[in-house]
Amino acid sequence: MNAKADTARTPGLRSPLSAFGLPIVLVAAALGLTFLWQSTVPTTGFIFLYAAVVSASWFGGKWGGCVAVILSILAVEYFFVPPIHSFAIQREFLPVFVEFAISAAVIGWFSSWRKEAEAVLKRARSELSMRVEERTAELRHSNEQLKAEMAERRRAEEAWHEARAELARVTRMSALGQLAASISHEVNQPLAAVVTNADACALWLEADPPNLEEVRAAVDCIVREGTRASEVVRRIRAMFTRAAPQRTLVQINELIREASALLETEIAKNQVVLSVELADDLPAIFADRVQLQQVIVNLMVNAMEAMSGVTDRPHTLAIRTGSESPGEVLVSVRDSGIGIDSTNQRRIFDAFFTTKAQGMGMGLSISHSIIETHGGRLWAVSNTGHGATFQFTLPVDGTQSQ
Ligand code: ADP
Repeated sequence: MNAKADTARTPGLRSPLSAFGLPIVLVAAALGLTFLWQSTVPTTGFIFLYAAVVSASWFGGKWGGCVAVILSILAVEYFFVPPIHSFAIQREFLPVFVEFAISAAVIGWFSSWRKEAEAVLKRARSELSMRVEERTAELRHSNEQLKAEMAERRRAEEAWHEARAELARVTRMSALGQLAASISHEVNQPLAAVVTNADACALWLEADPPNLEEVRAAVDCIVREGTRASEVVRRIRAMFTRAAPQRTLVQINELIREASALLETEIAKNQVVLSVELADDLPAIFADRVQLQQVIVNLMVNAMEAMSGVTDRPHTLAIRTGSESPGEVLVSVRDSGIGIDSTNQRRIFDAFFTTKAQGMGMGLSISHSIIETHGGRLWAVSNTGHGATFQFTLPVDGTQSQ
């Protein structure tokens, strides 16, 4: 609805035609009808003039009504109140005249008031409907905004799902990468031992006469190392396929003796003085034998590597077992190597962190996760003098941590 058009139609702002022309025409017509009617029905009264006042007030507004009232009063006075055709009034006709004048004025005022009230009402209704339309448009707009936001949110959720799937894929790939690194790291040592023993075997066989005793010992070593390599691969595969680690009751001292025996050649080659102090009465722990052996071998190899560049002091490697608290066994591997740089202390257990030219940075990260899987703790401290000490604890009741 057009508010301006409506305002133009409000009383008081009417055109001169409706304010003056309309009442003149209506009063003239009413006068004519009154004459015509009075010639047949003498008691007609001024009903047509009243009708003219009502119509002029209704269609011509306040001013149209006023003009109609004045014209009707003048017409009644001139044409109907004796003396006829004069504006003088005889005293006895004064009440009739006054009655008409007052009733015409009241009817005119009432009619224009009704019209005005109706116009105000109409305006209010139109404003209301305008406001409703505006509000509806606003609501429609916010509804569309809401729909757009919902669509945006849906898109964001889809993107998030895609990103999560991608992250899972990348994580799987990195787990595969770690697995490959772990296999090569753990299998490398037994393979090296197999090759060394096979070489030695060939030399003993070439001797005249062949030293069959040494050959048998070397072959035994090859079988042992080969079995260890295949065990490592089998356990890593088991880890990858999420098969439960094979836990049995394990004597930690036994594992340390085995690891020392396995590294015998390396120990001799690196001129390492090995001291092993094993506590007598350690309880057996429920653990995966191969995994724990990997941890001990790793720590020992790292210790030897840390000492390989040291020339000004003996290469000492001390392995101790004990128990700090009743429910735990403690293993410590202490060396006299280069020690741990304080800036690297926090990163040495991170996967792929290495300070060695040929290092992979997987040994400590794998060892750490193995010990944690067994419910224990692995940590490193710098020695007061030289070197570093790596220690781990394992709970005696290992079943709890499975
Ligand atoms: P890698 O031996 O392939 O480097 P590790 O995870 O076994 O991987 O070791 C990570 C790093 O921790 C090593 O590169 C080295 O800097 C440090 N580190 C490990 N053991 C010792 C040690 N006994 N003494 C000093 N630093 C060590």
